[in-house]
Amino acid sequence: TEIKAWKEFDKAKLYMADLESGLHYLLRVELATHKTLEGAELKTFKDFVTVISKLFPGRQPVVKLLETLQEWLVSLPLDKIPYDAILDLVNNKMRISGIFLTNHIQWVGCQGSKPELRGYTCSLWKLFHTLTVQAAVRPKALINTGFEDNPQVVLQIMRRYIQHFFGCKACAQHFEEMAKESMESVKTLDKAVLWLWEKHNVVNDRLAGDPSEDPKFPKVPWPTPDLCPECHDEIKGLHSWNEAQVLQFLKHHYHHENILYKYAE
Ligand code: FAD
Repeated sequence: TEIKAWKEFDKAKLYMADLESGLHYLLRVELATHKTLEGAELKTFKDFVTVISKLFPGRQPVVKLLETLQEWLVSLPLDKIPYDAILDLVNNKMRISGIFLTNHIQWVGCQGSKPELRGYTCSLWKLFHTLTVQAAVRPKALINTGFEDNPQVVLQIMRRYIQHFFGCKACAQHFEEMAKESMESVKTLDKAVLWLWEKHNVVNDRLAGDPSEDPKFPKVPWPTPDLCPECHDEIKGLHSWNEAQVLQFLKHHYHHENILYKYAE
C-alpha cells in the first residue's frame, strides 16, 4: 500500500477533496460490485443521483457530471442498466467538456493514521450530513423532482443507498434498525439534520474502543466542546446537548461556505 504523506487540515472545516473522493469511490468502486442495476436497486440509485445532482454543493464540472448522469438515467426506458454503461458515462467525459469527477482518492479530513482506517465511510457520513444541511438551507432546490415537501428526503435516500449498496453489511443492518425505530418521526428538514447527527453519535458510541477506531480520531460525542462550546450544557451536573445550538453549528459546519478546496485536484 502506498504511504501518503500526512496532510495538515483544520477539523473545523469541510474539505471538497473528501467529498469528491467519496463520490469517486461510491461511483467507481462500491457501485462496481453490482454488475447490473434493476428493480429496487435501480430505483434507489436513480433517486440518489436525482437528489445529489440537486443538492451537492460542488464545483461546476462535478455538478454537471451528476446532472448529466441524472438526465441519462431518467431518459433510459430500460428496466435494467449494466454498471459498465454507468461507468462509461462517468469516465468518458473529458475535462474539456467541463464535466469531470476526479479518479484519485485524496482523503484530507478523512485521512486515517493507517491506510485501512477512516477514508470512504467517513466521507459518506460527511456527504449525507452535507446533503441534509443543503436540503434545509436550500429547500427550493428539490422543486420538480417529486421530492419537494418531503422533510425526510435525504434520510430516506441515505437509508435506501446504505441498504442496497453500502459495502459494510453489518453497518447497514445497524443503520436500518435505527431508521426503523425513529426516522418516521422526522417532520421538518431541520429535524432531519438533527436526526442524522444524533444517530451518528449513537454509532460513535457503539464503536468506541472497537478495532476500527483510529487512535488518532477517538470516537467521542461530536461536536466536541472545542468545536462548539455552546452545544454543551450541564444540568444538575449531567451533560446535555443544547439542540438549538447543535443545529446552528451543523448548519454552519456542513454549509457550502465552510468547504475548503485545498488538496482538491
Ligand atoms: P466517522 O464516524 O466516519 O465521522 C466522520 C466525521 O464526521 C468525523 O470526523 C466528524 O468530523 C464528523 N462527525 C462525527 N460525529 C458526527 C455527528 N454525530 N454528527 C455529524 N458529524 C459528525 N463501522 C462499524 O465498524 N460498525 C458499524 O456498525 C458502522 N455503521 C456505520 C453506518 C453508517 C451509515 C456509516 C456511514 C458508517 C458506519 N460505520 C460503521 C463506519 C464508522 O461509522 C466510521 O465511518 C469509521 O469508523 C471511520 O470513523 P471516523 O473516525 O472517520 O469518523
